[in-house]
Amino acid sequence: MTKGLIKEIGLGIGLAFIGFLIWKGYDVLPLMFILGFFAAMYFLAESKGLVKPVGVQEVTGKNTSEVYFDDIGGQASAIKELKEALDFIKNYEKIKELGIRPLKGILLLGPPGTGKTLMAKAAATYTDAVYIATSGSEFIEMYAGVGAQRVRKLFKSARDKAAKLGKNNAMIFIDEIEVVGGKRGQNSSHMEYDQTLNQLLVEMDGMKNDDSVKVLLIAATNRADMLDPALMRPGRFDRHVRVDLPCKDGRVEILKIHTRNKPLENDVELGAIARETFGFSGAHLESLTNEAAIYAFREGRDRVSLKHFKEAIDKVIMGEKLDKRPNADELKRVSIHETGHALISEIVKPGSVSTLTISPRGNALGYMRQTPEDDTYLYTIDYLENQISIMLAGALAEELIFSNRSTGASNDFEKAVDLAKRIILSGMSRLGVVSEDSLPKDKMYDVITEIIREQEGIVQNTLLPYRKRIIEITEILLEQEQLSGTDFRKLVIEDDEPAEKAG
Ligand code: ATP
Repeated sequence: MTKGLIKEIGLGIGLAFIGFLIWKGYDVLPLMFILGFFAAMYFLAESKGLVKPVGVQEVTGKNTSEVYFDDIGGQASAIKELKEALDFIKNYEKIKELGIRPLKGILLLGPPGTGKTLMAKAAATYTDAVYIATSGSEFIEMYAGVGAQRVRKLFKSARDKAAKLGKNNAMIFIDEIEVVGGKRGQNSSHMEYDQTLNQLLVEMDGMKNDDSVKVLLIAATNRADMLDPALMRPGRFDRHVRVDLPCKDGRVEILKIHTRNKPLENDVELGAIARETFGFSGAHLESLTNEAAIYAFREGRDRVSLKHFKEAIDKVIMGEKLDKRPNADELKRVSIHETGHALISEIVKPGSVSTLTISPRGNALGYMRQTPEDDTYLYTIDYLENQISIMLAGALAEELIFSNRSTGASNDFEKAVDLAKRIILSGMSRLGVVSEDSLPKDKMYDVITEIIREQEGIVQNTLLPYRKRIIEITEILLEQEQLSGTDFRKLVIEDDEPAEKAG
């Protein structure tokens, strides 16, 4: 809930209370007078900059929460680009001589948790600027004009703060800029959005080279497509810096940063953890290191070991372990289901199983996690089909052993359908190159069904000779609750001849 919303709810409750007093026959005039006096004092103080406008968070140049570019991992090219832009501010005398206009806005684009806020804070430290942060949602209120007034106040308070601290630079960071900077005219019932954006444009246009305090606006979004073109045009946010999910080496750097203050056991190899965490953002990785340390603390250890990290990866991906215990029959079914996934994963890509477990976490009663060899950004048809077969293998293993399926596979089927859709939309199905908009729904449905049926047939035939082995592994899994990929592989490879495994 935003502070603005809390303020509005408070106002509503206050008015309802006054109405109640009037209804009960109390004389509310003295109370109204006192409240009016305090409200006037508050607004006076806010306009003089003595109290912060709603939602604005300040960090001045010398603050214990100072962030440096060295505290940000896996974003070398984004940092390089940002630093290049900031050097204009540091060398403003030189750029003035050359007649270069000042840099007004930098837009940081990227998925959540990749370090955009950290970058803005580090930019403030780098340029020795006063830092003021807020979020797009803080400008939006029910009443027209309030947002625009807040934008004015934000710029004024940045300039005033910098002047008070004797600094030449002020940095304003607006997170979720798409809330305030969305395309104009789209909120027809809400002129408030448009007025707020207009005010932001006016403030940006007013920034000049010879201002005593130079203000730089850094904004962040993960929805650049929603932004009004007026914000993106040269002269406004004319520097766009992509802050993407980190690659494997980037993840190692981030893990190093967040384990600086944590004593690690010798078995912890950050490279191996980075390999298992493809798709994790910096925020995920920070949470991972923290959770690993919490597991070590709960076990009374004074060092964080690999086991704690593995458990923490499962927690970050799947959610917290649950106390709910399925009954014995359900547990057996879950165990067979997960063994089915793991077996096909191991067959289509040897060495790919990282863990399989039957302890409930998040929404799942059990799960099998794969280890990606390398970060992958392009997928071939073979890869996608293999992933579909891994998704189907849980339900098909249940069918092989119990002759029926359960509701536990619905999430797997959703993923399988998404993968099949991906094959079609990438032009790799029998339909050839297609566009989603012009493809009739029933045609899409037919081809998805075809792709999935084909994989179903393959998985059924592959699993058949492993019937006995699936039951054996299931019993071990029921006993141990969790198997590492290495242990699982030993159990599968024990007897190489699938025909001998048939029950
Ligand atoms: P959002 O878009 O959700 O606002 P963001 O991109 O601004 O997210 P941050 O708020 O900067 O992300 O990151 C949240 C936390 O995650 C940071 O405080 C830090 O602990 C960690 N983190 C994120 N990215 C990185 C990174 N590249 N290096 C080190 N730590 C990171």
